[in-house]
Amino acid sequence: MEDMFMIEAKDLTKIYAKGENETPALKAVNFKIKKGSFTVILGPSGAGKTTLLNLLGGMDTITDGKLRIGNNNLETFSRRQLTRFRREEVGFIFQFYNLMPNLTALENIELAVEVTKNHKDPEEALEMVDLTRKRDFFPAQLSGGQQQRVSIARAVAKNPNLLLCDEPTGALDGKTGKGILKVLHDAAKEQGITVIVVTHNEAIKDIADQIIRIKDGEIASDEINKKPLSIEELVL
Ligand code: ADP
Repeated sequence: MEDMFMIEAKDLTKIYAKGENETPALKAVNFKIKKGSFTVILGPSGAGKTTLLNLLGGMDTITDGKLRIGNNNLETFSRRQLTRFRREEVGFIFQFYNLMPNLTALENIELAVEVTKNHKDPEEALEMVDLTRKRDFFPAQLSGGQQQRVSIARAVAKNPNLLLCDEPTGALDGKTGKGILKVLHDAAKEQGITVIVVTHNEAIKDIADQIIRIKDGEIASDEINKKPLSIEELVL
């Protein structure tokens, strides 16, 4: 039987050390996240959200404790293994899109999937975010919401198991932000991708399956949302 928890953190710890200074950014946190769920991580600035996202994405090394993602035990991985994990299993969405300015929408997606094995057709990924008509446009010719759609298409085209999103609607107005959340939500519900969104925006929690709050490197609360709102009901 496949484990329904895709992610399991046990006493997960990250300490940044610089000379004499040690900053404990995550202090032995424990949580589980289900496959295909939509999870929101909330918390004030400096709480450890980015640190957690970096560990989940294999972008940084674990100081102590365990982090299992699917069949991957990340705490045992070398840098090289983390790179492979990141490349094959994880899609990233950032607040400021991070598209290559000199490549078209379609080329941005093609570039991203070059190094991955089981990727989607880039044209199909653009269709998924409803941007086929913009395939030959450069990022500067697209609105913020459209650029974010391209970045989602780029991430989803890799066929990742995990989609990590850092303030994905932070630079967008409410209506555009809702459109972006719908695409991310669909990725979870229709494709079974586990989606994790880090945000300051309390409203987003209403559509989430699970809401984790972090404070001072610790889990302040971790709840399952029994009645998530639909995107249409969400007020951003
Ligand atoms: P958040 O994303 O919630 O704002 P972070 O994960 O960025 O919080 O930071 C958590 C703590 O770890 C903060 O005290 C921050 O200063 C510290 N920190 C983050 N990254 C580094 C780093 N590369 N080196 C040293 N300290 C860091």
